[in-house]
Amino acid sequence: MLRKPRSRTPRSDKLFAAASRILPGGVDSPVRAFKSVGATPVFIVRGRGARIEDEDGHTYIDYVMSWGPLIHGHAPRGLLKTLAATAAKGTSFGAPTELETRLAQRVATLMPSMERVRFVSSGTEAAMSAARVARAATKRDKIVKFEGCYHGHADPFLVQAGSGAMTLGVPTSPGVAAAAARDTLLARYNDLDSVERVFARHRGQIAAIFVEPIAGNMGLVPPGDGFLPGLRAVCDREGALLVFDEVISGFRAAAGGAQQIFRIRPDLTCLGKIIGGGLPVGAYGGRADLMGLVAPAGPVYQAGTLSGNPLAMAAGLWSLEELSPGLYTHLAQLGARLAAGLADAARQRGVPLQVNAFGSLLTPFFTDQPVRDYQSALAADTGAYAAFFRGMLARGVYPPPSQFEAWFISGAHTSRDIDKTIAAAREAMRNVEGRK
Ligand SMILES: *Cc1c(COP(=O)(O)O)cnc(C)c1O
Repeated sequence: MLRKPRSRTPRSDKLFAAASRILPGGVDSPVRAFKSVGATPVFIVRGRGARIEDEDGHTYIDYVMSWGPLIHGHAPRGLLKTLAATAAKGTSFGAPTELETRLAQRVATLMPSMERVRFVSSGTEAAMSAARVARAATKRDKIVKFEGCYHGHADPFLVQAGSGAMTLGVPTSPGVAAAAARDTLLARYNDLDSVERVFARHRGQIAAIFVEPIAGNMGLVPPGDGFLPGLRAVCDREGALLVFDEVISGFRAAAGGAQQIFRIRPDLTCLGKIIGGGLPVGAYGGRADLMGLVAPAGPVYQAGTLSGNPLAMAAGLWSLEELSPGLYTHLAQLGARLAAGLADAARQRGVPLQVNAFGSLLTPFFTDQPVRDYQSALAADTGAYAAFFRGMLARGVYPPPSQFEAWFISGAHTSRDIDKTIAAAREAMRNVEGRK
């Protein structure tokens, strides 16, 4: 007779059972449910710095960091003070406040391509609205996106490659109208030829290319040499707009985002995550002539009851003001140390592993082949990642509960945290090795 092992997280298990009776799947965003790693989620009570604590009193070194926003760690003192002072004056007015102008000015200083900025409440809204502006500006309907890139859950982006050789989109989700998917064309990340083929087939019909300049939603996949300049050149030649979705890379890859590092000026940029400092914020912006189309300056309608919310603006301002060259040096050092440590831990156990890393972002892919696009990411052994994840969680480290997500390091992480994480990884790799 097998006895059910006693749970290490009885309170979380109970809370998840209760949540599952009222929230679909027990969560408000799918990846939180731990489904792809064969586990059930731990419920969090608090976070401080690089650590989170669950309902059963376990603490973890956190590498999810709310999926990217928390570049300064959990609950930094200065942020809490700012939030309290702002909240004391009222939480929302539905009327302009100075905070919106100040945050927009800050964004424009860090990212000079952002000549005009519109705040929204999520990255999804930012991408959806940027698509509307691009279509209005070019009077064309089609957009190009890359397989494995994520731009939020608006209909035109929930699209995968059709069964044909290339490009014509089909919905990835029931409920997305075939018509909404049809105007989204798919190309392959890091493959300019695939972009050329799409343009050749739909000449004069493509409004914009949407791209994560550093892809973070198929696991981390940095752009290869020439990829981003190539996209810029294609857009210029074809009269299409280049839209950088920097919801992850903005303020993380560098204070000025991937566009600063790779010296590419996109026509429009989507922001989210760090720009809200852990509160719900997104933004889109770019060329003044394009953003001049947005209501009430122009005819392209887009609005939001809580857009530019004072608490969210104050959190964003605080977070951007805390960015410093020293922070990025620290993040890069920790990222390099963790990437090398994970690779080494795998090597010791003979586990095939490719660690993709860029500054404070990384993904260990359980495969022996380089990962440069969605196809090669899918070659990773998700069962191995699941075993590794569970081994890490049991040892007090909280990595993303999916093979195809980036790990996020914050300024609150220390090299001691990284070394503890590597030590846990050395042991957790045994779970992976044991599966063979
Ligand atoms: C998270 C993310 C989004 C969506 O942002 P939400 O705030 O979750 O709607 C869009 N694009 C990218 C690149 C993201 O990582």
